[in-house]
Amino acid sequence: NNKAVATPTRTKEILNTHGFSFKKSLGQNFIIDVNILKNIIEHAEIDQHAGAIEIGPGIGALTEQLAQHAGKVVAFEIDQRLLPILGESLSPYDNVEVINQDILKANVKQVIEENFSSDQKVKVVANLPYYITTPILMKLLMDRLPIDSITVMIQKEVADRMAAVPNTKSYGSLSIAVQYYTVAQVAMNVPKTVFMPQPNVDSSVLHLQMRAEPPVNVDNEDFFFDVVKASFGQRRKTLINNLARHFKGKMEKSDILGCLEKAGINPTRRGESLSIEEFGLLARHLS
Ligand code: SAM
Repeated sequence: NNKAVATPTRTKEILNTHGFSFKKSLGQNFIIDVNILKNIIEHAEIDQHAGAIEIGPGIGALTEQLAQHAGKVVAFEIDQRLLPILGESLSPYDNVEVINQDILKANVKQVIEENFSSDQKVKVVANLPYYITTPILMKLLMDRLPIDSITVMIQKEVADRMAAVPNTKSYGSLSIAVQYYTVAQVAMNVPKTVFMPQPNVDSSVLHLQMRAEPPVNVDNEDFFFDVVKASFGQRRKTLINNLARHFKGKMEKSDILGCLEKAGINPTRRGESLSIEEFGLLARHLS
């Protein structure tokens, strides 16, 4: 069969042949539009030298395109029922390996070491299961994997939050958490019609370019993220009120005011107006 998996006819044919029924609980919304997939691969800057890691290959729509463009593809799929289907749809390609594992439990670092050479750029490319978007991305970032970038289809609302800049509605502690590790950018918005079945939410492709170094110098990352969370605590409150409430019993309000002054940050500002650099400065003075 020389028709791409990511077409309505071929997808229906594969599903019917195998009597496959979607599991909503696993976030199974398959892509049926090859152009979207080609766009994703372009944004990920995949070429024959690159290694690709896919999360949730489904019936192989994106996997097939990755196999055609990347040197090697490793895909993690939790649903055992999809393995024989993938075996068939990916049979023309000898550069793909499917691992039947929950990505949240997988040792991704080890898989990278075993499957890719150290001079190969490794890129994560996926149409993520939406029920665990944030846990998957935070795991990939916090594990400090030797990867170059992450290009993923996720809910539009979450993509907007991860890529948000200060003084916008979407900006919050998730923006800082993601942008501490990466340069984040919404690459494109995607209509619901490219999925089967169609999800209830709008989708976007998010591109995360890994940073070589964090954008701020913090001696204690846990404390830095604690300060960030506290600052965003109650949106309508001032920075000083949010911080004073959070550090109650541990720090005097007057000391916090002193730190804000040393950091050159007006205490009556809202947390949502602070850049990541300012949060770094603030955390350094508070610690
Ligand atoms: N890549 C395919 C496509 O674009 O058509 C399928 C994408 S679908 C949105 C998400 C896929 O992730 C499903 O195949 C689902 O079974 C799989 N999945 C769900 N939870 C997973 C987990 N914890 N680990 C690995 N795969 C998972």
